[in-house]
Amino acid sequence: MDIRTKAVHTGVYKDKSYNSVTTPIYPSSTFYFDKIGQNKGYDYTRSGNPTRDALEENLADLEGGAGASATCTGMGAITATTFFLKSGDHLVAGDDIYGGTYRLFKQVLPGMGVDVSFVNMRDLAAVKAAVTPKTRMVWIETPSNPLLNIVDLEGVIAVAKANSCLSVVDNTFMSPYFQQPFQFGADMVVHSTTKYLNGHSDVVGGAIVYASEEIAERGKWLVNALGVSQSPYDAWLVLRGVKTLAVRMEAHQANAQAVAEFLDGHPHVKKVYYPGLPSHPGQELIKKQMTGFGGMLSFELDTSKVDRDNFFANLEYFCLAESLGGIESLIEHPWLMSHSSMGEEGLKKSGITDETIRVSIGIEAAADLIAAFDKALKG
Ligand SMILES: *Cc1c(COP(=O)(O)O)cnc(C)c1O
Repeated sequence: MDIRTKAVHTGVYKDKSYNSVTTPIYPSSTFYFDKIGQNKGYDYTRSGNPTRDALEENLADLEGGAGASATCTGMGAITATTFFLKSGDHLVAGDDIYGGTYRLFKQVLPGMGVDVSFVNMRDLAAVKAAVTPKTRMVWIETPSNPLLNIVDLEGVIAVAKANSCLSVVDNTFMSPYFQQPFQFGADMVVHSTTKYLNGHSDVVGGAIVYASEEIAERGKWLVNALGVSQSPYDAWLVLRGVKTLAVRMEAHQANAQAVAEFLDGHPHVKKVYYPGLPSHPGQELIKKQMTGFGGMLSFELDTSKVDRDNFFANLEYFCLAESLGGIESLIEHPWLMSHSSMGEEGLKKSGITDETIRVSIGIEAAADLIAAFDKALKG
């Protein structure tokens, strides 16, 4: 089945009572037993819920996994995967990952006895050098946030496998529509469904998708034990959003390409980061592992020519806001906003500057978005 068909059809026909075409919301916290030991497959919503199950079935199908857990937030999903580790283990992660993930890995995991090394994941030799006999997990984000660096999925996952490590890929930026890490051997894929999968900026959620039944069993057990599963209402909203994933991703991408081309070479823009520009250094990997370029781009604003605050104030349509992946365009300043929790050292190491601007391109008309930039960049 084509992914566009899966997004619309998988997991949605659950109602046998009234033949509803969409999945009902079952907000019930608990489910009664007909007698001890006999129920209809659900007992308590933290552990299992029909609405959430429908979403999990859908997401597993989109990624090509053996199962999925829908979680309360993206960070909830990421936290749960780190519980595959135990005290004394070591984790290798990219040095330009999502700010919240960086904070968890840098400031929380060491206190739980898990050491973390941050490396430049574009450098396979650096990844190999960072792996120790204690390494049990390799954490990959590609394209990276906010600089859209491309990591060699097959190459890094091969290093993980050779060292008996789990490999986890945060696939939030591409969504399964443009990138499917299981094709390259990943063990788990995580998402902030807050972003493209839900797509409407009206829910926070996350997901872990598992490559095998065995990993799924452990992961689902952990999500229940930790209590980070998603509420039925929120799961229903994500399922509603996911049905239009394909058309939204195509629209985000077409607009992002047009805006990137406009910004590229603009006299007040120093540099544009977008996988769809021929100048992007990751061409070969982009062709190999991505089927599209997505809707995220970043650029370096020349603040000697345009005042930063005036630029944001003058930019029509783009809300100055964190987050991404919704149908409306958003813009933000990673240094002071989304990535500030990395601290100055982490920011500098990852290549983010105080002129870096990150844009989540929405599905408005490209001409309107370009006109807005044209005006605001005049300074
Ligand atoms: C937003 C985001 C997260 C965290 O998700 P929340 O839903 O905000 O908890 C993780 N990874 C990436 C790449 C993200 O963009």
